[in-house]
Parts: sequence; C-alpha cells; structure tokens
Amino acid sequence: MDARSFPLMIAIDGPAASGKSTLARRLAEALGYLYFDTGVLYRAVTWAALQRGLSPRDEAAMTRLASELAIDVRPPSQADGRSNDVWVDGQDVTWAIRSPEVDAWVAAVAAHPGVRQALLEVQRRIGRQGRVVMVGRDIGTVVLPEADFKIYLDASLEERARRRYEELRARGQPVSFDEVLARMRARDRTDAGRSVAPLRPAPDAWVLVTDGLTPDQVFTRVWDVLQRRAAPHPSDGAEAS
Ligand code: C5P
Repeated sequence: MDARSFPLMIAIDGPAASGKSTLARRLAEALGYLYFDTGVLYRAVTWAALQRGLSPRDEAAMTRLASELAIDVRPPSQADGRSNDVWVDGQDVTWAIRSPEVDAWVAAVAAHPGVRQALLEVQRRIGRQGRVVMVGRDIGTVVLPEADFKIYLDASLEERARRRYEELRARGQPVSFDEVLARMRARDRTDAGRSVAPLRPAPDAWVLVTDGLTPDQVFTRVWDVLQRRAAPHPSDGAEAS
C-alpha cells in the first residue's frame, strides 16, 4: 500500500481508556508513521511536580515547570509493553507516569491554561512534520486543527474503567475497580469542563464508540475508512462529458 496517498496528519482524541493508544500504535505501524502520545507530556509534568513537592493546583508553579522541564521521548529501550521511553531529570519515568497518583492529579495540571500553552509548540512542531499519528484530548481541535484525518474514540465510563483496572492489575498495581471508576469519572469531568481546550470531538472528526469492540475490530473499522479516503475518487482524471 502506498502510504503517500493516506492522510499525513492523523489526530486521535477521546477520553481515557477509549482505545486511542492501541489504535494509534497500530495505525502508525501500518503506515510507517511516527506515533506520538501527547498525554505523556502532561503526565511527566505532573510526576515532576509530585516529586518536587509542588502543588498541582498552583498554576504559576506548574506553568514554570512545564516550560522548563526537559521531557525526553525516545524509542523503546525495553520490550516490556512500552511504546516509547519517557525520561525526565535523568530518570526513566515510563511507568512512573502511569501510577494511580499521577492519574489522580494529571487532569488538574492539564487544566491550567499556562501549562497547555507551554506544551503547545512542541506538539505542533512534531505534528506539522507530517507522517504522524498524534493522540490526546485536543489534537483535532487545538494542536493540529489542520489534520487531514480526525478520529474521536469514545466508550462508556464503565467499559473504560474496566479496561484501565485490568491494565493496572496486570502491572501489579493494588487498585480496586471502584477507585479506578471514581478517578476516571473525576478526570473526565475535569478534561471536558476546563476552560481551555476541553475534551470534545472536532466538528469534522469521525466518531467511533468502542464499547464491545476488540482492538482488532476498532483497527479494522478505522483502516476501512482510511482506505476509502486514500482511494482515488472515481471522477479523478475522468474526461468531462
Ligand atoms: O491520554 P492520557 O490518559 O495519558 O492523558 C492524561 C491526561 O493528560 C488527560 O486526562 C488530560 O488531562 C491530559 N491531556 C490533555 N491534552 C492532551 C493529552 C492529555 O489535556 N492532548
């Protein structure tokens, strides 16, 4: 398949555990594109704030941290399920940024307009190089409104909490389902209710609800849509009659 006929900037947005990362990784692999999960930036800032004893609610401190922190996203160094290494302050924080504690605070940090502004340019620089599948909450609406294919994945709160619970348990995290559900509900509210770049589908996004669908089924549906978009239009090159 000739990847040049496919959209060059693919934006995938949606709430936590809606299936974005799994889909994005597979699309990027199939197309030979870069996969970039923008959530790691917000998570890295949150992790560093907690490490340094800073209050996630302090917008000035969080904005300064987001502007100054060197967040390094590198190809994976280990085959332990990671799709990238994330390094901060000389430490591999790939899994530390996925802890329940970071989960609990990240939406508060991401709601600060100053933090979002500080992280915007780096995301645009990566996205505008093209041949990228970028994942987040505001990629289609704010980061890359010019993206040529926008997908919004959704799923019920219960289904998403179940997926996250299973993921955390598989990594040995001692969490309860109710705790995961409550935290996810709170994070959804903060993400959808914030004043800057709230979570919502772009008007031109293709929306897919993933309840009851396996990752394979999600990929196949999106791949079908992509192929239809990539195929030459029947009237292209046709002689006017
Ligand atoms: O996608 P992930 O769950 O890793 O994102 C963590 C948090 O980072 C989200 O709940 C949201 O608060 C924030 N985020 C964001 N905008 C993005 C990506 C993530 O606000 N583009």
